[in-house]
Amino acid sequence: MRAPEPVSPASPPTLDPRRNAGRRRDVDRDLRALLGAALDPRRLRCDDPLAPLTTFQVGGRADWLLDSRSEREVAAAVRAARTLELPVTLLGGGSNVLVSDAGVRGLVVRFRHGEIAATPPGTVRATAGVTLNGLVRWTVSRGLAGLEAWAGTPGTVGGAICGNAHFRGRLIGELVTAVGLLGPEGGIRRVSPERMGFGYDRSRVQESGEVVLWAEFAVGAGKVADLRAEARSSLRFRKRTQPLAAPSAGCVFRNPDPRRQDLPAGAPCAAGALIDGAGLKGRAVGAARVSHVHANFIVTDPGARARDVRALIDRCRADVEARFGVTLVPEVVFLGEFDATA
Ligand SMILES: Cc1cc2nc3c(=O)[nH]c(=O)nc-3n(C[C@H](O)[C@H](O)[C@H](O)COP(=O)(O)OP(=O)(O)OC[C@H]3O[C@@H](n4cnc5c(N)ncnc54)[C@H](O)[C@@H]3O)c2cc1C
Repeated sequence: MRAPEPVSPASPPTLDPRRNAGRRRDVDRDLRALLGAALDPRRLRCDDPLAPLTTFQVGGRADWLLDSRSEREVAAAVRAARTLELPVTLLGGGSNVLVSDAGVRGLVVRFRHGEIAATPPGTVRATAGVTLNGLVRWTVSRGLAGLEAWAGTPGTVGGAICGNAHFRGRLIGELVTAVGLLGPEGGIRRVSPERMGFGYDRSRVQESGEVVLWAEFAVGAGKVADLRAEARSSLRFRKRTQPLAAPSAGCVFRNPDPRRQDLPAGAPCAAGALIDGAGLKGRAVGAARVSHVHANFIVTDPGARARDVRALIDRCRADVEARFGVTLVPEVVFLGEFDATA
């Protein structure tokens, strides 16, 4: 099949169907034609709701959504979007994102494919769409030690690498031996952990726009019973300390780092303690509320909108700044446009 001519870069950038239905039809046709070589283009969904794909359960629609089933499909989707100058947004388990009520423009690629393999010596490789819980179950049941404490962490390997997931002082990047990245130019490279830019809640892909395709993790030998016990202990800790019954995206803010940020004397260095100290536990905007169980969690009730969550985040930041002089930095990733009315 001949690739279609790309849509003229001079076209207006908006793809809002109410404002530019003609351009949207053209892009839809071209996108399906470009993807046709790699997958059945009928799998590309148009104007699809994102709220059910996120743990916050709020937000609008994606112009286009693809549930990818292989690295080849991801690469083809990114290439096609690039040709058409469409923005691409990556989505794993949707457990660390807030999607705007106006939705996300362009193509959303969701990682659905999952393969895990032992890759000697002493490592396992998981593709980006594998859930962390699935990876923990896989390693624990084979007596491979290292990942068991991550039991109960929502989301996928891709999302965990992107944000360098953390739990009780440990960072997932500490276990990583290599990551497979798809670059914006379409090349795939194997990157060592030293070159991943891992830090607390940080990795290089947050700035580079690279796509995590897989990650390798160091594992050792362990007894299945011991590993299960450790995994259960993590799950118990989460049940005890986190509001797991209501939709949320986990911790909303990063904990301030006293090594990077001057904290006023007496200010706690946990975001939850700062929010609690500012008297915000239980504070609500619309159907979004600061959790009573853990003040760094915002939970949503049915009918909540992304703008409620966003307004509550802004409120927490303003009140903590006023009370403690500490500027909280969101850990949650905002997808789509947010403004005063978003
Ligand atoms: C109840 C609860 C408890 C939580 N506990 C923890 C915890 O203990 N520790 C912790 O760190 N987090 C925690 N979180 C937050 C969340 O689970 C983690 O941040 C998780 O790693 C996000 O993974 P995800 O696949 O859901 O990513 P998403 O939310 O889908 O995406 C997050 C970011 O990663 C990007 N991304 C996703 N996939 C890829 C990819 N393949 N390549 C490049 N970028 C990609 C997205 O574009 C987005 O910017 C919790 C969340 C909930 C709801």
